[in-house]
Amino acid sequence: MISLDNLKDKLATPCNIVITTHHKPDGDAMGSSLGLYNYLIQKGHHVKVITPTDYPFFLQWLPNNPEVIIYTDHQTQSNVLIKNADLIFCLDFNSLSRINEMGAEVKNSTALKIMIDHHLEPEDFDDFRHWSIKACATAQLVYDFIVNHLNERDLISSDVATCLYLGIMTDSGSFRFPTVTSDLHRIVADLIDLGANNSRIHQLVYDNASEERLRFLGYCLSNKLEVLREFNTALITVSQADINKFNIQTGESEGIVNYALSINGIKLAAFITERKNEVKLSLRSTGDFPANEICKKYFNGGGHRNASGGQSTDSLAAVTAQFKAILPEYKNLLLQ
Ligand code: 5GP
Ligand code: MN
Repeated sequence: MISLDNLKDKLATPCNIVITTHHKPDGDAMGSSLGLYNYLIQKGHHVKVITPTDYPFFLQWLPNNPEVIIYTDHQTQSNVLIKNADLIFCLDFNSLSRINEMGAEVKNSTALKIMIDHHLEPEDFDDFRHWSIKACATAQLVYDFIVNHLNERDLISSDVATCLYLGIMTDSGSFRFPTVTSDLHRIVADLIDLGANNSRIHQLVYDNASEERLRFLGYCLSNKLEVLREFNTALITVSQADINKFNIQTGESEGIVNYALSINGIKLAAFITERKNEVKLSLRSTGDFPANEICKKYFNGGGHRNASGGQSTDSLAAVTAQFKAILPEYKNLLLQ
């Protein structure tokens, strides 16, 4: 590990920096990455954001989004950038498996690795860490890093503020999850003062759905929702054929799991989707119920207590059956 002073020294002169984040990036992943990017370019650094995979169109309006490199589309160029980097910022993930094939490249790079993250149980691959599971979003930690560690609030331009606001907005469920504190509201207020246009950002993310997404949501709720009252659990399962029929693109199924959780009395909600080579699970829970434990123990995943994910190479039917078979183990907690 290096000290903060050491890192400050490195950042004092222009150098080659790569910023990366987890695969299938969400609002916090893109908001924190481009927020940090828009901050660092003002200091004269040569900065590239490399995402392991593509990401939803409703996140593609962020300032300097056209500068983002998608690893799966530009592997050779990305590998050179990673190899020649002096610093690699790893944002919104803490296990190299979350960046797919890029993980080995990052591990082998001689660059100093800086982890900024709010997920449980970080893996030991970094040289400097700004990490807290109390943070509601990685974007909040990026704000804290720039303002309180680097003392450079004056470099939070309206572009930086816009990106960080988006990250906090999406990871906090629009400022309503238990991780939202009065301190977080003060940070959000500061971001608005610094130029984030809050209502425009909400509109660009939440009032920007395709017609197909809305019809797909309707289909999921009326045809695919199963409510298991005996376990206070609700689940939605969708096949690849369903996805194809509605022409659902990356990220367009995001948030549907929350509708299942919004049912009165439901403590655990699952959205189980068939993808090309695997089945993906998204779990959400309320209160103390450890959704991440189920993902870690049974579905090769993890995440936060109330929002976690996992995957399996079994069939959709098998994964759904396995998920239901796990519920009796958690019956007491679910019925509390
Ligand atoms: P989502 O359901 O939106 O894919 O993921 C919810 C949360 O769980 C996110 O915070 C994400 O970082 C985490 N998560 C999703 N999939 C995985 C996984 O496979 N492994 C781990 N460790 N975390 C995951
Ligand atoms: Mn996050």
